[in-house]
Amino acid sequence: MQFPAGFIQHINNCKGFDEVAFTQAHQLPTPVSIRYNPQKPVEKMAGSPVPWCAEALYLPERPLFVFDPLFHAGAYYVQEASSMFTGYLFRQFTDDKKPLHILDVCAAPGGKSTLIAGLMSPQSLLVSNEVIKSRVTILKENIVKWGNPNVVVSNNDPRDFSGMNGFFDVIIVDAPCSGSGLFRKEPEAKKEWSIENVNHCSLRQQRILEDIIPALKPGGLLLYATCSYAYEEDEKIVEILLQNDFEPLPKISVPAEFGGIVFSKSGYRFYPDKITGEGFFIAALRKKNGGDEQTNQIKKQFIPINADEKNIVANYLHQPENYFFFKYKEVIYCIPEIVKSSISALGGLHLIKSGTALGSIKNNELIPDHELAMSSIISKTIPRLGLNATDAITYLRKNTLQINSNLKGWCLITHKNIPLGWAKIIPGRLNNYFPTEWRIRK
Ligand code: SAM
Repeated sequence: MQFPAGFIQHINNCKGFDEVAFTQAHQLPTPVSIRYNPQKPVEKMAGSPVPWCAEALYLPERPLFVFDPLFHAGAYYVQEASSMFTGYLFRQFTDDKKPLHILDVCAAPGGKSTLIAGLMSPQSLLVSNEVIKSRVTILKENIVKWGNPNVVVSNNDPRDFSGMNGFFDVIIVDAPCSGSGLFRKEPEAKKEWSIENVNHCSLRQQRILEDIIPALKPGGLLLYATCSYAYEEDEKIVEILLQNDFEPLPKISVPAEFGGIVFSKSGYRFYPDKITGEGFFIAALRKKNGGDEQTNQIKKQFIPINADEKNIVANYLHQPENYFFFKYKEVIYCIPEIVKSSISALGGLHLIKSGTALGSIKNNELIPDHELAMSSIISKTIPRLGLNATDAITYLRKNTLQINSNLKGWCLITHKNIPLGWAKIIPGRLNNYFPTEWRIRK
């Protein structure tokens, strides 16, 4: 592989860099890895474990994920293995029993958010934020498919969080970067690389952090990550943080089977010649105590639903008593009671998804929403129609399905017991309610 001019000289002094081994690793194919959704248990594919992520596997080759119904059902997420180390660090430095407010500030397309959603306690709230509007669509889609009711999606600039002094216990900044860690996986990234771009990214990373730091609680955890090898985007940023509001956290002991993760200035460097994965950097820092008292947040108002509506929607949920129901533009939503006050504190944000959309009521009947089909909160007693892989793909293409079934009315279409979406069965016909914008087009 031909690297951009000046690239090797630029990273030559980085801790752990070995030019010969690094160059050789770039001749090898990119490993393919997936991470399973703990809420949607399925039989795992053949593969070998990713040592730092219990739910993840390396696959021997890249399947055509688009033709696997379970991919569309959110049973797993295709994610580069090194970046899954974010979950390992999160586990090391947080208590998995505690209620936490977590912010993933640069979240699209949702890799870290779905990872953390699977690790946080059921009393925790994750705000999955993306500033670029066109990227929020894919973020929302991935969060909906993951089906965790405690995740909200927002579309805000990092500076919009500055009014939320001390609200978050954990902030993840997976910063936009110059992308050298992805040269093997996405060779196009090489065209974008230049020393000017590295410096530009470094300044942008500093700006994002300055904007977001007030929202982190004193004593709170910051996970700062890039997929760049550049000192200016990695250790230099950590040095700036340590000179100001942050203190280092102890180096964690990394088991031998993880490979050669290189520890450098509170950060962990991943090189493709030392671990099975792509280039990655992540640092874990603690915000110093003092200052930044939590301020009153702008409260979000919810319009509650009436008793009749509640009776109708409650039938669709497992343990409906655990949820608060509200209405927005005729659609009924629910949020877990346990995070209601936390979600109400997000009134100052531009929320794209808060709560699970259950559907709208017409003629005393719920027209169920796709979000409900994808969610882990759905009742186990709803009629289900299981499809084999061929019929499931026909359903996901939104084509007509010829089905012999005694079922009538709304039912969940499933594949290997995992819901894919809704259908309404009327005599002689199945109406396919899979969302048009998500259908398989290939
Ligand atoms: N965390 C994501 C994941 O695991 O799937 C990947 C995030 S990607 C490395 C960085 C994200 O930052 C992109 O979605 C990008 O749109 C967003 N971004 C770009 N400029 C930004 C800015 N000025 N402030 C905050 N986020 C920005």
